Amino acid sequence: MSIAARFEELFGRAPEGVWAAPGRVNLIGEHTDYNDGFVMPFALPHTTVAAVARRDDGVLRLHSADVEGDPVELRVEELAPGGTDAWTDYVSGVVWALRDAGHAVGGADVHFESTVPTGAGLSSSAALEVVTALALNDLNELGLERSRLARLCQRAENVYVGAPTGIMDQTASACCTAGHALFLDTRDLSQRQIPFDLAAEGMQLLVVDTRVKHAHSDGEYGKRRAGCEAGAAALGVAALRDVAYEDLEGALARLDDEEVRRLVKHIVTENHRVEHMVALLEQGATRAIGPVLTEGHASLRDDFRISCPELDLVVDTANASGAVGARMTGGGFGGSAIVLVDTSDADTITKAVEEAFEAAGFKAPRVFAAVPSEGARRLA
Ligand code: ADP
Ligand code: MG
Repeated sequence: MSIAARFEELFGRAPEGVWAAPGRVNLIGEHTDYNDGFVMPFALPHTTVAAVARRDDGVLRLHSADVEGDPVELRVEELAPGGTDAWTDYVSGVVWALRDAGHAVGGADVHFESTVPTGAGLSSSAALEVVTALALNDLNELGLERSRLARLCQRAENVYVGAPTGIMDQTASACCTAGHALFLDTRDLSQRQIPFDLAAEGMQLLVVDTRVKHAHSDGEYGKRRAGCEAGAAALGVAALRDVAYEDLEGALARLDDEEVRRLVKHIVTENHRVEHMVALLEQGATRAIGPVLTEGHASLRDDFRISCPELDLVVDTANASGAVGARMTGGGFGGSAIVLVDTSDADTITKAVEEAFEAAGFKAPRVFAAVPSEGARRLA
């Protein structure tokens, strides 16, 4: 059944339009976004699609194909931060953020259908927020730019849902273009589309979803964030972004806390890896990004210490089986890894990873090729 037909079945009328927003993978630049640094995500072909029609009675009725039950009903005037832990927080949070910023947004009926895996570090939450924001922006003729919509979605997730995430996920979902990765400076939010057409080079980027999420990950995120802030304070800079790669040795020598020193080392080298990778891709040296990915993994494993046995096993197995490079991606302690391969090796490497997981007694991973795809858009 089409999404419009399902909408009609649920709400007894046709939708006014249908919108889509993708999940994302971060190619490089991990944990740099709360240090005013650089990131380089690209959009997945997997999207969250929303069929939407406005209501004039201030009621919000929200339904997702992924959630059992009837539509959830909320009143827009009653929306307020202080998460209820419901999936609808991501959606009503966007309505709240738009209204809180002074935009005239009323009620609506919304039905979502998604192919973005949830909780796999591929940003299903941002896809849900951004598709909502784009639909409401269009229907209410708000005329907001995509980067502004991304900011409001981030505010929804930070303030309304209560998840302390950076600006990368929402910007990726809103602003990426097909065949490109998005180079984003999270300090001034300037962005550049970087050519990333793997098929033309006979290569593929595999996403390996380990399907584990270790329970302590939220607390560890908070600790890393606090440690980075302590490092910046000790070095007398506004954010670790301000420590130049050339000055890294001197900066590390001025830090006496071993743990903070490791965090600083990761952030400074990671920002350098993003810039290096931008230069390589702009020169067309796509294959040369492989070793940079693998170095990034070592930094996350040894210095930032957010990897886990499953992610290390993907990277080690893939590289031992002829991958061009590999690294964990996302927040860490589970989620997904990315593996750059020659297309001719994709099957062998996938099989090697699957066998290694089975031998280790891990849950079978989910593997798919990620083609850099289009950001949020109206479909109908
Ligand atoms: P990630 O963004 O990495 O997928 P998060 O924990 O940030 O993981 O967000 C996942 C949450 O977002 C889900 O638990 C659910 O509450 C919500 N969500 C995402 N996509 C959908 C969907 N299609 N339908 C309902 N809820 C969704
Ligand atoms: Mg998320």
